[in-house]
Amino acid sequence: MERTIGLLGGGQLGQMLCEAANPLGIKIVILDAEKSPAKQVNAKNDHIDGSFIDAEKIRELARQVDILTVEIEHVDTVVLEEIAERGVEILGADGKKTVKKVEVQPSWRTIRTIQDKFLQKDHLAENGVRTAISKAVQSTEEDLQAFGREMGYPFMLKARKDAYDGRGNYPVKSASDIKDALMALKGRGLYAEKWANFKMELAVMVVKTEDGTSTNGTATVAYPAVETIHEDSICKLVYAPARGVSQRIQREAQELAKKAVGSLWGKGVFGVELFLMEDGELIVNEIAPRPHNSGHYTIEACPTFSQYKSQLLSILGLMPSFPDSRIPAMFPATIMLNILGGASKPAHNEIMKHAIGIPRAALHMYGKESKPARKIGHITIVADSMAQGESLVQPLLSMTDAMRA
Ligand code: ATP
Ligand code: MG
Ligand code: MG
Repeated sequence: MERTIGLLGGGQLGQMLCEAANPLGIKIVILDAEKSPAKQVNAKNDHIDGSFIDAEKIRELARQVDILTVEIEHVDTVVLEEIAERGVEILGADGKKTVKKVEVQPSWRTIRTIQDKFLQKDHLAENGVRTAISKAVQSTEEDLQAFGREMGYPFMLKARKDAYDGRGNYPVKSASDIKDALMALKGRGLYAEKWANFKMELAVMVVKTEDGTSTNGTATVAYPAVETIHEDSICKLVYAPARGVSQRIQREAQELAKKAVGSLWGKGVFGVELFLMEDGELIVNEIAPRPHNSGHYTIEACPTFSQYKSQLLSILGLMPSFPDSRIPAMFPATIMLNILGGASKPAHNEIMKHAIGIPRAALHMYGKESKPARKIGHITIVADSMAQGESLVQPLLSMTDAMRA
């Protein structure tokens, strides 16, 4: 492939992106700390050691590539805007400066909107996509008490920026939690969200194939809606497709996710997290402008078209069309289980051994140091039926529960 991709972030999502890029002959240059997971599986290229929030490092990356993309939304969008709009300066051997054009996908505008979860909610509401009622708040007890009086308890206090794996969420169960909540999220911009009494959490991976916005579902391709199970705000399990969900809800979830992603700018793959409410209504929780934990299952379930391949091909403008704009899964049932770091460093060895012994299980370890509650790997089980998958995952679930930090 002629065009080289520059990737901001080299964690497990970047690692799996590189694994998808290798057989396609796509070159990726990574900006992240030395020996980060993605660099471990991509030794062919010269990478850049540094931070994906360092503007000069991002420019250095841009000079080496044709198109920039992200595996994390917490990046410097000011420099991405500068690069997308004006290009990046290159100093030639003759001492002359030239400007090189570099594409940024998805658009810096999308990343900027999404990285502030409150701005993201505002954007979705403006585009007719329902979300939990939320309000920007000051870090004061009065503001939170007022929100509690208006919306009731519990409610969720959230950091606007740099949030992931629930680090940035604080469930406020009653007024007496407010002090602790403010302490836990001290120094961060905050917003408060009405508690969502959902009966299930769903997620849909959506691929956006055109630069412009369109909320009518064109220029977007959806994967099946999956069921996600979170524990302490961290994704634990993914059932694909979602269990016990009607065809109508399955379709509605895909349509809503496509509408939400269509309202954004640029190309790429997006993870859309949804709440299926008690009354059957679907609302959007949040969107990730990149491959997503809930889409790991696609590596095995959609063997010729994983979310990672979709990310690569969509940003390169090479995404083929799919009948009905939907990417089908090959297996009737797939279950993905995250492996989180346990109370002790070797705690996950037993689960790895067990997973290797299951012919229908694929083990993915990310080459990350084990720390309590850190995502260090995952297991995907492919089954002929959900019941079969559930019985295969059961012993693994018991082991993960036993090793919990
Ligand atoms: P991610 O790793 O997905 O980026 P995050 O840190 O951005 O996570 P959220 O997605 O906002 O956090 O929330 C994590 C989980 O917390 C949700 O998947 C859901 O289980 C729970 N949660 C979030 N918001 C609410 C809410 N308003 N009401 C009830 N539960 C919620
Ligand atoms: Mg998030
Ligand atoms: Mg989330």
